[in-house]
Amino acid sequence: MSKIKMQNKIVEMDGDEMTRILWKMIKDELLLPFVELDTEYYDLGLPHRDETGDKVTFEAGEAVKKYHVGVKCATITPNAQRMTEYNLHEMWKSPNGTIRAILDGTVFRAPIVIKNLSPAVRNWEKPITIARHAYGDVYKGTEYRVPTPGKAELVFTASDGAETFRETIYDYECPGVLQGLYNKDSSIRSFAKSCFEYALSTHQDLWFSTKDTISKKYDQTFKLIFAEIFENEYKAKFEEAGIEYFYTLIDDAVARVIRSKGGFIWACKNYDGDVMSDMISTAFGSLAMMTSVLVSPDGNYEYEAAHGTVTRHYYRYLKGEETSTNPIATIFAWSGALKKRGELDNTQDLIDFADKLEKACIDTMESGIMTKDLALIADGEAASVNTADFLNAIRANLEKLL
Ligand code: NAP
Ligand code: MG
Repeated sequence: MSKIKMQNKIVEMDGDEMTRILWKMIKDELLLPFVELDTEYYDLGLPHRDETGDKVTFEAGEAVKKYHVGVKCATITPNAQRMTEYNLHEMWKSPNGTIRAILDGTVFRAPIVIKNLSPAVRNWEKPITIARHAYGDVYKGTEYRVPTPGKAELVFTASDGAETFRETIYDYECPGVLQGLYNKDSSIRSFAKSCFEYALSTHQDLWFSTKDTISKKYDQTFKLIFAEIFENEYKAKFEEAGIEYFYTLIDDAVARVIRSKGGFIWACKNYDGDVMSDMISTAFGSLAMMTSVLVSPDGNYEYEAAHGTVTRHYYRYLKGEETSTNPIATIFAWSGALKKRGELDNTQDLIDFADKLEKACIDTMESGIMTKDLALIADGEAASVNTADFLNAIRANLEKLL
């Protein structure tokens, strides 16, 4: 059998610990035997980030801009303990944060749904994708403890010093708390565009929710910017694609999501997205089955697993113990990137291969062969296997499909 060819490169970002081990196993077992993999390789493993003064992360982000498609392995975000463990020169920032800033993107997280892993919500049949606006709000807020009675005011001074708004927030008669939040039109616009683009690209309806009835300027601005961009740039494209955009209050959205069958994208403000994505992933079953893609408003895509480097399994692996780490979300990061590469280059055989790879994974799990994390929570008979045996079973199913 001749290998499938690629027209253009994918940016490959290697990572750390157990997921770095999985990365190589996935390439060796499921990709290299079938595809003439053409990647531009960046080693984002912590030792190499440290050696390059984190330059490699910035270069990888720029490369995704150039080739439009990237796939990333999970990476360590250093903390104090990692400083000593890896003898680091600096506590480097989160690579995901760096790449997100370069691409100005929005993160979409979607669960992989299989028949024998039923979601906590019985009527959910299809995945629910959360789009989180990962900029500003409470994550970049300024806050204090108010120690004594006194007046809190909201003051804005224009950069030319001329225009000033001043409004009393509260006249404190006792101690309390105070917080200032901000966001920017430019960031909300990028968020909106990424959401509309991703809805078109995955052929799903887009829901957006805020609390604009209470927050009549702040949340209202989000609502209006989404509405304006939809009217001017996406309405016709959505009609043509047969998909819908709809806005509703966050409370109403929560109720509708629970009653739904799934199969749509739910765009959320930063805090709502943080909380709701944990709710959705837990209700669908497992973090190890959650995929994640960073989409920029100008159409760059970076695929990864939502979970981390699975440190606890790695330490067991280093001791020579057998591990049963779930590679599914990392495989789907690869299949997502290959599929997108195929779509951008019009190479149907690459798209077909990615679809078959995903089907082989689902067939394997639905036949009851799973890693330990899933076997523990699956419906019906399930055999828990180690990672290598699991990948072999997927390969056997993939070969049947090719
Ligand atoms: P984690 O790597 O996601 O693992 C937490 C636990 O979840 C594991 O110990 C394991 O539970 C379970 N788990 C996660 N993925 C699994 C998989 N594929 N198969 C089986 N079980 C899985 O989170 P963490 O331990 O909090 O973080 C570890 C490192 O990852 C940190 O250095 C952090 O900075 C980094 N991180 C990176 C990213 C990213 O690059 N996107 C995201 C999050 C965290 P059991 O041990 O109970 O089996
Ligand atoms: Mg969270």
